[in-house]
Amino acid sequence: MAGKQCFRCKRFLPESSFYPYRPGDRLQSYCMTCHVECQREYRSTHPDYNKNEHHKFYANHPGYNTVAARMARAEARKKKLELKAEAPVESTEATKDQKFTHRRDYSTSEGFR
Ligand SMILES: [Zn+2]
Repeated sequence: MAGKQCFRCKRFLPESSFYPYRPGDRLQSYCMTCHVECQREYRSTHPDYNKNEHHKFYANHPGYNTVAARMARAEARKKKLELKAEAPVESTEATKDQKFTHRRDYSTSEGFR
């Protein structure tokens, strides 16, 4: 089995335990476990990493995910749920009628003729 030694933990692991730099590209020197740990470590030691990207995004999307926007979404969701809760009662009546209109009504004597 083709394998590769992790540069960080020095374990000898199958190639499937390594991420490629890009899909189909050569494999990275760190195994998946070390890769994840390394990223976590980097983020904890670099708390400002990615922060600017977020600021840019919020600057370009005014009102995105603000308290007001969240409240509006929650309200819309609540309304939808209320409609859903009421709907089954109405829809069963309606679908029942629809379902049986094509059938002959055998409850009356006319049906047997
Ligand atoms: Zn490793």
